[in-house]
Amino acid sequence: MIKTGIGFDIHPLVKGRRLILGGVHIKHPFGLAGHSDADALCHALADALLGAIADGDIGEHFPDTNPRWKNSSSLDLLKRVRARLKAAQARALHVDAILMAEAPKIAPYRQAMRRRLARALALPLAGVSIKATTMEGLGALGRGEGIAALAIATVEVAKRTTDVRRRTTEQKSKHPTPNIERPTSNGKGRMTDARRRTTGNGKKQKIIR
Ligand SMILES: [Zn+2]
Repeated sequence: MIKTGIGFDIHPLVKGRRLILGGVHIKHPFGLAGHSDADALCHALADALLGAIADGDIGEHFPDTNPRWKNSSSLDLLKRVRARLKAAQARALHVDAILMAEAPKIAPYRQAMRRRLARALALPLAGVSIKATTMEGLGALGRGEGIAALAIATVEVAKRTTDVRRRTTEQKSKHPTPNIERPTSNGKGRMTDARRRTTGNGKKQKIIR
């Protein structure tokens, strides 16, 4: 079956950082601040892909409290998300994204971004669409204080009976399940979203930066 997911990310622009978007280094006096390379485009795409298989978000899988992801390449993170899709018997078919940036101009870098993203996601070039818009001077983004990205992913998922989150929760047998009442959504023992949120290590983690 075909599923879709949505993702959004935003990072502040600061001095002394390289600007990386879609895995491409862009010449600009400012770069995005964050724990990883702060590639807002890759992060939005990763969240969209995870959303399509209802598998949480990148803050959960790649927390900014983990030094492992410090200054890490977000293209690498996308490859790891692709592996999560594969484990869930899913594969990306198409991604589309909008970069919201007052500056710099994205158009000269668009093709390079599409190529890098297509390679990371094992998609044909035609399966990766990148668009960009300015905010017409409005708000924080319009003042050039940061760059945001919005993404949507179309994913083909093999017909399955088990929720991906339920499967991974059951595999984590070392982690004790909180002793709370098990709500069911349909009387067949499937967990509700509220239930899923409290499984695993029970910690809510910040979005990766
Ligand atoms: Zn981010």
